[in-house]
Amino acid sequence: MTTKIDQPFLDETIRILRDYIRIDTTNPPGNEMAAARFLAEILEREGLAPCVEESAPGRANLTATLAGRGDARPVVLLNHMDVVPADAEKWTVPPFSGEIRDGHVYGRGTIDMKGMGILELMALIYLKRRGIVPAQDLVFLAVADEETGGVAGAKWMLERHPELLDIQGVINEGGGGVIQDGKRWYEVSTSQKVICQTRFTATGEGGHASVPRKDSAVTVLIAALDRLRRHAFPTVLIPTVKEYFHRVAPLQKEAWQPVFDDLEGAIARNDPALEEIMAEPGYHAMTHNTAAITVLKAGEKVNVIPDEASARVDCRLVPGTSPEAFMEELRRIVDNADVRIEATFTGVDTPPSPHDTPLFHAIERAVAQHDPGCVVTPHLVPGATDSRYFRAAGVPCYDFIPFRLTIPERMLIHGIDERISIENMKFGVEMMIDILLNLEA
Ligand SMILES: [Zn+2]
Repeated sequence: MTTKIDQPFLDETIRILRDYIRIDTTNPPGNEMAAARFLAEILEREGLAPCVEESAPGRANLTATLAGRGDARPVVLLNHMDVVPADAEKWTVPPFSGEIRDGHVYGRGTIDMKGMGILELMALIYLKRRGIVPAQDLVFLAVADEETGGVAGAKWMLERHPELLDIQGVINEGGGGVIQDGKRWYEVSTSQKVICQTRFTATGEGGHASVPRKDSAVTVLIAALDRLRRHAFPTVLIPTVKEYFHRVAPLQKEAWQPVFDDLEGAIARNDPALEEIMAEPGYHAMTHNTAAITVLKAGEKVNVIPDEASARVDCRLVPGTSPEAFMEELRRIVDNADVRIEATFTGVDTPPSPHDTPLFHAIERAVAQHDPGCVVTPHLVPGATDSRYFRAAGVPCYDFIPFRLTIPERMLIHGIDERISIENMKFGVEMMIDILLNLEA
């Protein structure tokens, strides 16, 4: 059976989402306590006994469990309450108004990820109101601080509640339904790249700009960065990504299909179509370690040659890549001992989650119910989510928001006029309910 919610339940969902958006949880500073209290009040009314814990002044995390029969290990419905800042000047509606226009709820967090949090909340409420006792505990977990690293959020909770790791899996933000060129498919992110942030520093003799030197800190740094930007990093293929290309092969234009179907083989024979495919930044990021030059610093005055110049380079590694070996690779590329290259932050390398678990299959079946015939595929997400804290402990995580978004709609994440259609909220709640119900089968 495919779940269809009625109009009053949808109205309630939208009302709760709008009220939730109106709580400004811009991080920093976060102020998630207000959001946690808001969710707790709703959960309390439904008899879902929420527990709010303060992780830092004004910061909070919340859990609420729909108790199951204990036939399987719990599933965690993870979401973060904080949002990134919004520049109200550039928005066409106030970013924390929850205003409705043209069938869309506008507001910071509607996609990332208060909207998804409400899908999880309403799915749980739907089951509870029907008296459904699931096979396993379903744990709603709303956390603080995802947008600046999760120290007061997911990380804090898992350090204090190791029982949250004794579970069968997590559903969290990340992938979802993609609409492109009249086609639709569903990406379930089972893996994410590893952050490796670096600093490049060159030093040299400073002086007056009227007598320039060829080996100033700035010129040395520019030469190093030029070598880096020209460098073509080799392909690094993990099974998750091979599977992704294989599953979406039928959706590609005919000339690309053999390459997608067997990406490894195509790389081995250096298929001419690869160049065009890998020019697509998304495909390139899934199959390569990347290095993005993001911050440049040198000099204060136009007539003074500075004695130091530095750059920040944000690198993202395919899981399984050794950060030490990658740093050596950077030094080899730059090939200049006068440029110091150091790692300033390295994330935890987490193994991809398997795509043959009951939870993954529950998602696959829910897609088959709500959008028959569509491809569902595991996916490597280039960014980072809180799932890394669970995956580091070996817990399978499925980053999947059951919205169907076009590429321009996805670009609204962290962007101007972030919004979600009421139609997507309806679709998302129904699919989320069925993902949970499918765990029974
Ligand atoms: Zn997010």
